[in-house]
Amino acid sequence: MKKDIKSMSIAELKEEMLSLGEKAFKATQIYSWLHKHSAESFDEMTNISKDLRENLKKNYDIYNCTIEKKLVSVYDDTVKYLFRLNDGELIESVVMKYKYGYTICVSSQVGCKMGCRFCASGIAGFVRNLTPSEILSQIYKAQKDLDIRISHIVMMGVGEPLDNYDNVIKFLRLVSDENGINIGMRNISLSTCGVVTGIYKLMEEKLQLTLSISLHAPDDETRSKTMPVNDRWNIDELLKACKDYIKATNRRISFEYAMISGVNDSDECARKLGMKLKGMLCHVNLIPVNSVKERSYTKSSKERMESFIKILGKYGINATVRRTLGSDINASCGQLRRGENSN
Ligand code: SAH
Repeated sequence: MKKDIKSMSIAELKEEMLSLGEKAFKATQIYSWLHKHSAESFDEMTNISKDLRENLKKNYDIYNCTIEKKLVSVYDDTVKYLFRLNDGELIESVVMKYKYGYTICVSSQVGCKMGCRFCASGIAGFVRNLTPSEILSQIYKAQKDLDIRISHIVMMGVGEPLDNYDNVIKFLRLVSDENGINIGMRNISLSTCGVVTGIYKLMEEKLQLTLSISLHAPDDETRSKTMPVNDRWNIDELLKACKDYIKATNRRISFEYAMISGVNDSDECARKLGMKLKGMLCHVNLIPVNSVKERSYTKSSKERMESFIKILGKYGINATVRRTLGSDINASCGQLRRGENSN
Protein backbone atom coordinates (compact mmCIF):
# COMPACT_ATOMS: atom_id res chain seq x y z
CA MET A 1 0.00 0.00 0.00
CA LYS A 2 1.22 3.48 -0.83
CA LYS A 3 1.91 5.90 1.99
CA ASP A 4 -0.50 8.66 3.00
CA ILE A 5 1.60 11.71 2.12
CA LYS A 6 -0.96 14.29 3.27
CA SER A 7 -0.82 12.99 6.83
CA MET A 8 2.94 13.61 7.05
CA SER A 9 4.58 16.48 8.90
CA ILE A 10 7.35 18.46 7.22
CA ALA A 11 9.92 16.62 9.33
CA GLU A 12 8.53 13.27 8.18
CA LEU A 13 8.43 14.45 4.57
CA LYS A 14 12.07 15.49 4.81
CA GLU A 15 12.98 11.98 5.96
CA GLU A 16 11.03 10.57 3.03
CA MET A 17 12.82 12.83 0.55
CA LEU A 18 16.20 11.83 1.89
CA SER A 19 15.26 8.16 1.64
CA LEU A 20 14.32 8.74 -2.01
CA GLY A 21 17.73 10.34 -2.57
CA GLU A 22 16.21 13.82 -2.91
CA LYS A 23 17.14 17.10 -1.24
CA ALA A 24 15.32 17.80 2.02
CA PHE A 25 13.99 21.19 0.86
CA LYS A 26 11.68 19.43 -1.61
CA ALA A 27 9.62 18.51 1.44
CA THR A 28 8.69 22.16 2.04
CA GLN A 29 7.64 22.57 -1.58
CA ILE A 30 5.51 19.45 -1.53
CA TYR A 31 4.00 20.38 1.83
CA SER A 32 3.06 23.76 0.46
CA TRP A 33 1.38 22.18 -2.58
CA LEU A 34 -0.58 19.77 -0.44
CA HIS A 35 -1.59 22.08 2.37
CA LYS A 36 -1.44 25.64 1.10
CA HIS A 37 -2.68 25.02 -2.43
CA SER A 38 -4.78 21.92 -1.66
CA ALA A 39 -3.21 19.98 -4.54
CA GLU A 40 -5.15 16.83 -5.28
CA SER A 41 -2.59 15.27 -7.63
CA PHE A 42 1.18 15.26 -8.03
CA ASP A 43 0.85 16.69 -11.55
CA GLU A 44 -0.34 19.99 -10.09
CA MET A 45 3.09 20.41 -8.46
CA THR A 46 4.61 22.33 -11.33
CA ASN A 47 7.86 23.31 -9.63
CA ILE A 48 8.67 19.66 -8.93
CA SER A 49 10.56 17.82 -11.68
CA LYS A 50 8.69 15.29 -13.76
CA ASP A 51 10.99 12.51 -12.56
CA LEU A 52 10.32 13.26 -8.93
CA ARG A 53 6.61 13.54 -9.56
CA GLU A 54 6.63 10.07 -11.11
CA ASN A 55 8.60 8.76 -8.18
CA LEU A 56 6.14 10.33 -5.76
CA LYS A 57 3.22 8.72 -7.58
CA LYS A 58 4.83 5.33 -7.18
CA ASN A 59 5.33 5.68 -3.44
CA TYR A 60 2.54 7.88 -2.14
CA ASP A 61 -1.17 8.55 -2.41
CA ILE A 62 -2.87 11.89 -1.92
CA TYR A 63 -6.08 11.02 -0.13
CA ASN A 64 -8.89 13.34 -1.17
CA CYS A 65 -12.59 13.18 -0.59
CA THR A 66 -15.28 13.75 -3.18
CA ILE A 67 -18.55 15.61 -2.81
CA GLU A 68 -21.37 13.10 -2.69
CA LYS A 69 -24.05 15.63 -1.82
CA LYS A 70 -24.15 19.34 -0.99
CA LEU A 71 -27.00 21.18 0.68
CA VAL A 72 -27.18 24.96 1.02
CA SER A 73 -29.45 26.57 3.59
CA VAL A 74 -31.83 29.13 2.13
CA TYR A 75 -31.86 30.99 5.46
CA ASP A 76 -28.21 31.65 6.17
CA ASP A 77 -25.99 30.15 3.41
CA THR A 78 -24.79 27.37 5.71
CA VAL A 79 -23.49 24.52 3.56
CA LYS A 80 -23.61 20.87 4.53
CA TYR A 81 -21.45 18.40 2.66
CA LEU A 82 -21.70 14.67 2.50
CA PHE A 83 -18.19 13.60 1.52
CA ARG A 84 -17.18 10.21 0.17
CA LEU A 85 -13.85 8.83 1.31
CA ASN A 86 -11.51 6.59 -0.67
CA ASP A 87 -12.92 3.40 0.80
CA GLY A 88 -16.48 4.49 0.05
CA GLU A 89 -17.39 5.59 3.59
CA LEU A 90 -19.39 8.79 4.00
CA ILE A 91 -18.89 11.67 6.43
CA GLU A 92 -20.51 15.06 6.93
CA SER A 93 -19.03 18.55 7.37
CA VAL A 94 -20.66 21.95 7.66
CA VAL A 95 -19.42 25.40 6.59
CA MET A 96 -20.89 28.40 8.40
CA LYS A 97 -20.47 32.08 7.67
CA TYR A 98 -19.93 34.42 10.59
CA LYS A 99 -19.02 38.10 10.76
CA TYR A 100 -15.40 37.17 11.39
CA GLY A 101 -15.14 34.66 8.55
CA TYR A 102 -15.89 31.09 7.59
CA THR A 103 -15.95 28.27 10.12
CA ILE A 104 -15.95 24.61 9.25
CA CYS A 105 -17.31 21.89 11.49
CA VAL A 106 -15.33 18.75 10.73
CA SER A 107 -15.89 15.08 11.51
CA SER A 108 -13.18 13.06 13.23
CA GLN A 109 -14.55 9.53 12.86
CA VAL A 110 -16.87 7.55 10.59
CA GLY A 111 -19.73 7.09 13.04
CA CYS A 112 -19.27 7.28 16.80
CA LYS A 113 -19.02 4.88 19.75
CA MET A 114 -20.26 7.20 22.45
CA GLY A 115 -23.99 6.60 22.09
CA CYS A 116 -25.34 9.92 23.41
CA ARG A 117 -29.10 9.44 23.31
CA PHE A 118 -29.94 12.80 21.70
CA CYS A 119 -27.33 12.66 18.95
CA ALA A 120 -27.66 11.29 15.41
CA SER A 121 -23.96 10.60 14.87
CA GLY A 122 -23.86 7.25 16.63
CA ILE A 123 -27.17 5.85 15.44
CA ALA A 124 -25.63 3.88 12.59
CA GLY A 125 -22.74 2.73 14.79
CA PHE A 126 -19.00 3.23 14.66
CA VAL A 127 -16.97 2.27 11.60
CA ARG A 128 -13.46 3.67 11.89
CA ASN A 129 -11.21 6.58 12.75
CA LEU A 130 -10.39 9.24 10.21
CA THR A 131 -6.75 9.80 9.28
CA PRO A 132 -5.23 13.29 9.57
CA SER A 133 -5.43 13.66 5.79
CA GLU A 134 -9.12 12.76 5.80
CA ILE A 135 -9.87 15.41 8.40
CA LEU A 136 -7.84 17.95 6.41
CA SER A 137 -9.52 16.98 3.13
CA GLN A 138 -12.89 18.14 4.44
CA ILE A 139 -11.45 21.64 4.81
CA TYR A 140 -9.54 21.70 1.53
CA LYS A 141 -12.47 20.36 -0.50
CA ALA A 142 -14.95 22.83 1.00
CA GLN A 143 -12.56 25.75 0.43
CA LYS A 144 -12.07 24.81 -3.19
CA ASP A 145 -15.73 24.16 -3.85
CA LEU A 146 -16.88 27.45 -2.31
CA ASP A 147 -13.83 29.45 -3.41
CA ILE A 148 -13.30 30.82 0.10
CA ARG A 149 -10.68 30.83 2.84
CA ILE A 150 -11.74 29.05 5.97
CA SER A 151 -10.38 30.73 9.09
CA HIS A 152 -11.93 28.80 11.97
CA ILE A 153 -12.41 25.11 12.76
CA VAL A 154 -14.70 23.39 15.20
CA MET A 155 -14.18 19.70 15.84
CA MET A 156 -17.87 19.19 16.50
CA GLY A 157 -18.91 16.98 13.62
CA VAL A 158 -19.38 13.24 13.68
CA GLY A 159 -17.15 11.33 16.09
CA GLU A 160 -15.41 11.79 19.41
CA PRO A 161 -12.08 13.54 18.72
CA LEU A 162 -10.44 12.29 21.91
CA ASP A 163 -11.33 8.72 20.94
CA ASN A 164 -9.12 9.21 17.85
CA TYR A 165 -6.43 11.00 19.80
CA ASP A 166 -3.23 10.55 17.79
CA ASN A 167 -4.78 11.31 14.41
CA VAL A 168 -6.57 14.36 15.79
CA ILE A 169 -3.40 15.78 17.35
CA LYS A 170 -1.53 15.18 14.11
CA PHE A 171 -4.31 16.94 12.22
CA LEU A 172 -4.13 19.91 14.61
CA ARG A 173 -0.39 20.22 14.09
CA LEU A 174 -0.67 19.97 10.29
CA VAL A 175 -3.50 22.46 10.00
CA SER A 176 -1.72 25.04 12.14
CA ASP A 177 1.69 24.65 10.47
CA GLU A 178 2.81 27.96 8.98
CA ASN A 179 3.96 26.20 5.81
CA GLY A 180 0.46 24.98 5.12
CA ILE A 181 -3.06 26.35 5.57
CA ASN A 182 -1.87 27.90 8.84
CA ILE A 183 -5.06 28.15 10.85
CA GLY A 184 -4.05 29.32 14.32
CA MET A 185 -4.86 27.18 17.34
CA ARG A 186 -6.78 30.09 18.82
CA ASN A 187 -9.23 29.70 15.95
CA ILE A 188 -9.83 26.04 16.68
CA SER A 189 -12.29 24.43 19.10
CA LEU A 190 -12.27 20.79 20.06
CA SER A 191 -15.35 19.29 21.62
CA THR A 192 -15.45 16.15 23.75
CA CYS A 193 -18.24 14.26 25.47
CA GLY A 194 -15.89 13.88 28.44
CA VAL A 195 -13.13 11.39 27.72
CA VAL A 196 -11.15 12.21 30.86
CA THR A 197 -7.94 10.38 29.93
CA GLY A 198 -7.90 12.30 26.65
CA ILE A 199 -8.36 15.63 28.42
CA TYR A 200 -5.27 14.92 30.55
CA LYS A 201 -3.25 13.96 27.49
CA LEU A 202 -4.40 17.07 25.65
CA MET A 203 -3.40 19.18 28.63
CA GLU A 204 0.21 18.04 28.15
CA GLU A 205 0.20 19.22 24.52
CA LYS A 206 -0.27 22.80 25.77
CA LEU A 207 -2.24 23.87 22.71
CA GLN A 208 -3.92 27.26 22.52
CA LEU A 209 -7.18 25.81 21.25
CA THR A 210 -10.56 26.09 22.96
CA LEU A 211 -11.69 22.97 24.73
CA SER A 212 -15.45 22.41 24.71
CA ILE A 213 -17.04 19.93 27.03
CA SER A 214 -20.42 18.42 26.22
CA LEU A 215 -21.85 18.43 29.72
CA HIS A 216 -25.62 18.56 29.16
CA ALA A 217 -26.56 17.78 32.76
CA PRO A 218 -25.70 18.98 36.28
CA ASP A 219 -25.86 15.62 38.10
CA ASP A 220 -24.87 12.02 37.40
CA GLU A 221 -28.39 10.67 37.45
CA THR A 222 -29.55 12.99 34.68
CA ARG A 223 -26.33 12.76 32.71
CA SER A 224 -26.15 8.97 32.75
CA LYS A 225 -29.65 8.80 31.31
CA THR A 226 -28.55 10.55 28.13
CA MET A 227 -24.76 10.04 27.99
CA PRO A 228 -23.35 6.52 28.54
CA VAL A 229 -19.84 8.00 28.80
CA ASN A 230 -20.90 9.30 32.22
CA ASP A 231 -20.83 5.73 33.57
CA ARG A 232 -17.14 5.60 32.69
CA TRP A 233 -16.16 9.05 33.98
CA ASN A 234 -18.72 10.79 36.15
CA ILE A 235 -19.32 14.53 36.46
CA ASP A 236 -16.96 15.05 39.39
CA GLU A 237 -14.12 13.24 37.63
CA LEU A 238 -14.82 15.21 34.47
CA LEU A 239 -14.93 18.57 36.25
CA LYS A 240 -11.77 17.76 38.18
CA ALA A 241 -10.04 17.13 34.82
CA CYS A 242 -11.44 20.44 33.54
CA LYS A 243 -10.12 22.32 36.55
CA ASP A 244 -6.70 20.73 36.14
CA TYR A 245 -6.80 21.60 32.44
CA ILE A 246 -7.60 25.23 33.14
CA LYS A 247 -4.86 25.42 35.74
CA ALA A 248 -2.27 23.96 33.39
CA THR A 249 -3.22 25.89 30.25
CA ASN A 250 -4.84 29.04 31.60
CA ARG A 251 -7.47 28.61 28.88
CA ARG A 252 -11.17 29.13 29.42
CA ILE A 253 -13.31 26.03 28.93
CA SER A 254 -16.59 26.12 27.10
CA PHE A 255 -19.39 23.88 28.41
CA GLU A 256 -22.02 22.76 25.93
CA TYR A 257 -25.48 22.25 27.37
CA ALA A 258 -28.25 21.02 25.05
CA MET A 259 -31.52 22.16 26.60
CA ILE A 260 -34.01 19.30 26.47
CA SER A 261 -37.53 20.04 27.59
CA GLY A 262 -38.39 18.33 30.85
CA VAL A 263 -35.06 16.51 31.04
CA ASN A 264 -32.32 18.93 32.10
CA ASP A 265 -33.84 22.41 31.90
CA SER A 266 -35.45 23.06 35.29
CA ASP A 267 -34.44 25.93 37.56
CA GLU A 268 -33.16 23.32 39.96
CA CYS A 269 -30.86 21.96 37.22
CA ALA A 270 -29.58 25.50 36.67
CA ARG A 271 -28.85 25.92 40.39
CA LYS A 272 -27.06 22.58 40.57
CA LEU A 273 -25.02 23.48 37.50
CA GLY A 274 -24.21 26.88 38.97
CA MET A 275 -22.95 25.24 42.13
CA LYS A 276 -20.78 22.79 40.19
CA LEU A 277 -19.20 25.37 37.90
CA LYS A 278 -18.88 28.25 40.36
CA GLY A 279 -15.44 29.84 40.28
CA MET A 280 -14.27 28.09 37.11
CA LEU A 281 -12.79 29.97 34.16
CA CYS A 282 -15.60 28.93 31.83
CA HIS A 283 -18.47 29.82 29.59
CA VAL A 284 -21.73 27.93 29.15
CA ASN A 285 -23.23 27.50 25.69
CA LEU A 286 -26.89 26.62 25.78
CA ILE A 287 -28.09 24.83 22.66
CA PRO A 288 -31.82 24.30 22.16
CA VAL A 289 -31.74 20.56 21.46
CA ASN A 290 -32.01 19.89 17.75
CA SER A 291 -34.52 17.40 16.51
CA VAL A 292 -33.29 14.04 15.33
CA LYS A 293 -35.91 11.94 13.63
CA GLU A 294 -35.12 8.71 15.48
CA ARG A 295 -35.34 10.49 18.85
CA SER A 296 -38.25 12.17 20.58
CA TYR A 297 -36.49 14.92 22.54
CA THR A 298 -37.93 18.39 22.24
CA LYS A 299 -36.20 21.69 22.85
CA SER A 300 -36.78 23.90 25.84
CA SER A 301 -38.81 27.07 25.56
CA LYS A 302 -37.20 30.48 25.27
CA GLU A 303 -38.43 31.35 28.74
CA ARG A 304 -36.79 28.24 30.20
CA MET A 305 -33.50 29.20 28.63
CA GLU A 306 -33.73 32.78 29.84
CA SER A 307 -34.44 31.60 33.35
CA PHE A 308 -31.49 29.20 33.15
CA ILE A 309 -29.14 31.98 32.07
CA LYS A 310 -30.36 34.23 34.86
CA ILE A 311 -29.76 31.61 37.52
CA LEU A 312 -26.29 30.76 36.20
CA GLY A 313 -25.53 34.48 36.29
CA LYS A 314 -26.20 34.48 40.04
CA TYR A 315 -23.32 32.03 40.39
CA GLY A 316 -21.08 34.30 38.32
CA ILE A 317 -21.30 32.08 35.26
CA ASN A 318 -21.62 33.57 31.84
CA ALA A 319 -24.03 31.70 29.59
CA THR A 320 -25.32 32.40 26.09
CA VAL A 321 -27.64 30.66 23.66
CA ARG A 322 -25.91 29.18 20.64
CA ARG A 323 -27.38 30.42 17.37
CA THR A 324 -28.68 27.61 15.23
CA LEU A 325 -27.55 27.72 11.61
CA GLY A 326 -28.63 25.58 8.68
CA SER A 327 -31.85 24.48 10.36
CA ASP A 328 -33.52 23.64 7.03
CA ILE A 329 -30.75 21.25 6.01
CA ASN A 330 -30.26 19.41 9.33
CA ALA A 331 -26.81 20.92 9.68
CA SER A 332 -26.90 21.69 13.40
CA CYS A 333 -25.21 20.11 16.40
CA GLY A 334 -26.01 16.46 16.78
CA GLN A 335 -27.72 16.16 13.42
CA LEU A 336 -24.72 15.03 11.42
CA ARG A 337 -24.47 11.38 10.58
CA ARG A 338 -22.63 9.05 8.30
CA GLY A 339 -25.43 7.38 6.36
CA GLU A 340 -26.69 8.00 2.85
CA ASN A 341 -30.11 8.86 4.29
CA SER A 342 -28.66 12.00 5.80
CA ASN A 343 -31.84 14.00 5.48
N1 SAH B 1 -18.13 13.84 20.41
C1 SAH B 1 -17.86 15.22 20.63
C2 SAH B 1 -17.97 16.01 19.36
C3 SAH B 1 -19.37 16.16 18.82
S1 SAH B 1 -19.73 17.82 19.00
C4 SAH B 1 -18.74 15.75 21.73
O1 SAH B 1 -19.61 15.03 22.18
O2 SAH B 1 -18.52 16.86 22.20
C5 SAH B 1 -21.38 17.92 18.78
C6 SAH B 1 -22.05 18.68 19.89
O3 SAH B 1 -23.44 18.67 19.66
C7 SAH B 1 -21.84 18.03 21.24
O4 SAH B 1 -21.82 19.02 22.22
C8 SAH B 1 -23.09 17.20 21.36
O5 SAH B 1 -23.37 16.82 22.67
C9 SAH B 1 -24.10 18.14 20.79
N2 SAH B 1 -25.32 17.49 20.34
C10 SAH B 1 -25.50 16.22 19.99
N3 SAH B 1 -26.77 16.00 19.63
C11 SAH B 1 -27.41 17.16 19.77
C12 SAH B 1 -28.75 17.59 19.53
N4 SAH B 1 -29.67 16.75 19.07
N5 SAH B 1 -29.03 18.87 19.76
C13 SAH B 1 -28.10 19.74 20.19
N6 SAH B 1 -26.83 19.41 20.42
C14 SAH B 1 -26.50 18.13 20.22
